[in-house]
Amino acid sequence: MIKQPVKFGDEHNKTINLFSASNKEEKKSFWQRDEVEDIRKFAREHYLLQQSYECCFCGRVNPTDRANEWNVEHIVPRATHPQFTFEPKNLAVVCAACNGFKSDQNVLHNKSVKRYPNKKESFAIVHPHYDEYNDNIWRVGKFIYIPISTKGVETIHLCKLTRFGLDLLGVDALEQVEEEIEEQMKSYLETSDKKERELPLLKIQALTDIKFKITRRLRRSGREKVR
Ligand SMILES: [Zn+2]
Repeated sequence: MIKQPVKFGDEHNKTINLFSASNKEEKKSFWQRDEVEDIRKFAREHYLLQQSYECCFCGRVNPTDRANEWNVEHIVPRATHPQFTFEPKNLAVVCAACNGFKSDQNVLHNKSVKRYPNKKESFAIVHPHYDEYNDNIWRVGKFIYIPISTKGVETIHLCKLTRFGLDLLGVDALEQVEEEIEEQMKSYLETSDKKERELPLLKIQALTDIKFKITRRLRRSGREKVR
């Protein structure tokens, strides 16, 4: 979760004041203007450090600061809510792929909000300033995303985190999945509380399904390990 929203300086605020004085149509494209370049760069650098070079949706780490690989993301899209263009809590960095998939899709439960919501409940997806990623999406290895909340489902859907095909996975992933199943079974058996057993059970079910799919694919491609 992002701890520190970006703080713009005096020079930035002059530009932001110009933005505030613009009409709605001008506001929609304001972010792309040349005079905003410094703000974009400043925000990108700030959030790259805050997020430890991790995309806030797919969680992949990429230790570069190139603008074409990292986009400054507007969590509530600029196209639909231009008034939140410079709202620090509406900004984060994402990989170009997640940005492309998420695009201008709606993330708000109530689209007609006037002020920027300050509660995580107002958002349908994992909000990098308000939500713990791991409470919503459980990531196994590099490419397996298991939703463990409604926000998790919405985020995986909106950013198409299912885009990493199982063909990227191999024997290593299979071993990782098997180890995780063992771990989750231990957690399950450690407690007899029905509520506490829900999450490990869900994970075991999801992982068993993934294990089956990886095994089938490996078998088809003749790469299955002899056991
Ligand atoms: Zn991403």
